Order: sequence, then C-alpha cells, then structure tokens
Amino acid sequence: MFCIRIHEHGGLDKLVFEEIPAPVAGPGEVLIRVKATSLNHLDLWVRRGLPGVRFPLPIIPGVDAAGIVQETGPGVTHVSPGDRVVVAQGISCGHCTHCLNGNDNLCKDYKLLGEHRNGADAEYLAVPARNVIRLPDSVPFESAAAGALVFLTAWQMLVDRAQVRPGEVVLVIGASSGVGSAGIQIAKLHGARVIGVTIGEDKTAKARELGCDEVIDRGKRNIAEEVRRLTQKRGVDVVFDHVGKAVWEDCIKSLTKGGRLVTCGATSGHEAVTDLRYVFYKQLQILGSTMGKKGDLIKIMTFFEQGALKPVIDRIMPLKEVREAHRILEEGGQFGKIVLAV
Ligand code: ZN
Repeated sequence: MFCIRIHEHGGLDKLVFEEIPAPVAGPGEVLIRVKATSLNHLDLWVRRGLPGVRFPLPIIPGVDAAGIVQETGPGVTHVSPGDRVVVAQGISCGHCTHCLNGNDNLCKDYKLLGEHRNGADAEYLAVPARNVIRLPDSVPFESAAAGALVFLTAWQMLVDRAQVRPGEVVLVIGASSGVGSAGIQIAKLHGARVIGVTIGEDKTAKARELGCDEVIDRGKRNIAEEVRRLTQKRGVDVVFDHVGKAVWEDCIKSLTKGGRLVTCGATSGHEAVTDLRYVFYKQLQILGSTMGKKGDLIKIMTFFEQGALKPVIDRIMPLKEVREAHRILEEGGQFGKIVLAV
C-alpha cells in the first residue's frame, strides 16, 4: 500500500511517500480502506519530535480516519466488509476501571493512532473492532475524518469538563482552528452565548458565520479588555483554550467569579504564568482535557447526520501533498480542517 512515513524527526522533507506491505486484520481487528484523514497539531509534533518523548519510528502519522471495511478478523461481528465507518482514535486496554466506567481516555494504556502506533496517512489501517463506528450514509468520509477528533475533544471539554449550561458565556480561543470551530458549535448547541477569539478580518468574519455572537480580533484588541467591555465588566463563565502561553493571562483575567477554564493544548507554548490571586479570589477552576470517550463519537456522528453540528473543512488535498498540508497548518493559514483524501 501507499502511505506517508516518518523515519526521523525534522522538517517537511521528513514526510516520505512510500510503498509498504498493507497490514492485515488480526483476531478482533478490522482492516479499513482509508478514504479520508485529516491533519491535527499532533501530526506536527510527531513529525518534528518532542523533547523527552519517544515516538516509535518509522511511524505512519494521522490520527483521524474514515473509510470502508475491507476485511474483519476472527471474532468481529458488528461490522462487515463494505460498511462505511469512522475510527475512534484512542486505543485502550478495555478491562481496567477507567475503561469499564466508559472513561477509556483515562486508561493508563491509552494510545493514539499516528502517535503510539501506525496511523491513517495510508491506504489501509488495522484497528481493534471496538474502535470502529458505523458512519451514517449521509455523512461524507471527508466530514467524518475532519470532525471526529476535534468534535470529540471539544465535546469533552465543554460538556463533561466545563459543564456548560444555557445562558452562560463561553470564550472560544482559536476560533478558526479545527477544535475552535467545533467548540463554537457545541457551545451554541448547549445554549451559550459565544465570544470567539481569532486573528485577522477574514477569520473574524468566518467565526461570526459559524455562530459566534461576538468575535475579538486579538491582532488588534486585547482579549481581556474586550471581554470586559462585551460582558459589562462581568467576565465569561467558561474559557475554551488550546493556544496556551500567548493568551493564558488574558484567559484567566477574562473569567467571572466561579468561572472555568478548560484547556486541551498549548500550541503557542506550555510554560504559561498564572496569577494565583485570580484563581483563589475568583474561585476559578482550571480543567485539563485530552480526547474524549469513544461513546461520545457515536453521539457526534448522529449530530453530523442531523446537520446540528458541521465539521468545517478548509480544503481537501490528495495524500501525496502531505508536505504542503503540513506547511499550511504550521503557518496557521487555514480556517477549520485540512483533509487528506486517500
Ligand atoms: Zn483501560
């Protein structure tokens, strides 16, 4: 099969398009003919390498996948060859307390496709059967691959961790990113007023189209000051962040008393400074979040089918153009997700 592999960490030239033997479906596994995958920031970290983190090289990157079941291994009963499916990206042991409680993303053996084992930038992908979810006919492969990880991530952040309620005000940092565009829609679905934060006039207009009630252009305005003005000095109930260092102080200052800050990443840097006086005086909660429960992906696909949530696709490129796709994501030139058609 054709795939993208990383043999050593570094620049764009480390993404190698090559042909290797296709995997097979072992017992309890499903082999998928991948039709679409999408780029996530994780792909950039895996390509560049991270200090103190050892990735199993060579590795096929790509954490999101949608496609057609090619073959099923012994013991697989819930899908058959020819079925349209989307893949739950996290692989867990299936028998520890967290897994049995449905919190599979807290499993100590939790592993992600394209990070700890071969991922989706390939024609074929073999995964455990419990990671394979049927895809409704009306949801295109490209939408499923664009939306799975970012909506799952944003769902856990807002619904499980921050527990957003109707009438609350949610500040979505990085509104033009994949996870931001999911966060805006999920917050609106739960009846919140949404203030988006992005950079540039074009992205500001698009964030508004996506459902933001107000948008702050952080290239022109200070986030905390604008939040103060837009909320009549009250502040927001929830801050949804994945940018980190560059916006962290503003995120803390933007919260109202009893507010919650939920974070799933730090694309601008992880060494942020927190003024603890705000935390105790305003009785804030800082909540961490990574991925989400497999079961929530079924719910999200139903919302996609109904049109209540819509993955935002910036562009669709052939798998072969993965280097250019990485370059665009690295420069932040996209609005929503870059999908790779396989
Ligand atoms: Zn487990």
